[in-house]
Amino acid sequence: MELIDCAAVYEDIMYEMCGTGFQANALSVINRQQEIEAVPVHYGQWTKQYRSGVLVSSGVVSSCCDMWNERETKYCPHCGAKMNLEEKDNGT
Ligand SMILES: [Zn+2]
Repeated sequence: MELIDCAAVYEDIMYEMCGTGFQANALSVINRQQEIEAVPVHYGQWTKQYRSGVLVSSGVVSSCCDMWNERETKYCPHCGAKMNLEEKDNGT
């Protein structure tokens, strides 16, 4: 299953089907679909310094919300971002 932005589809149909007489039909197809609530996925990565430039001697800092954690995790424990933007800095 793939999720799309309903408001964007509405807008696109209104533009693409303008003057065809089929806008109402197309929009009614959208209106019949099951609604699923979803939250956009946010991404981040673990770094060795805060945004201010202050380095951490132990643990890691998340790029998503600038919070410290004792170890790298798959998801940020502070904001839930998916931490798959790998960028290792082994210069410690
Ligand atoms: Zn975060």
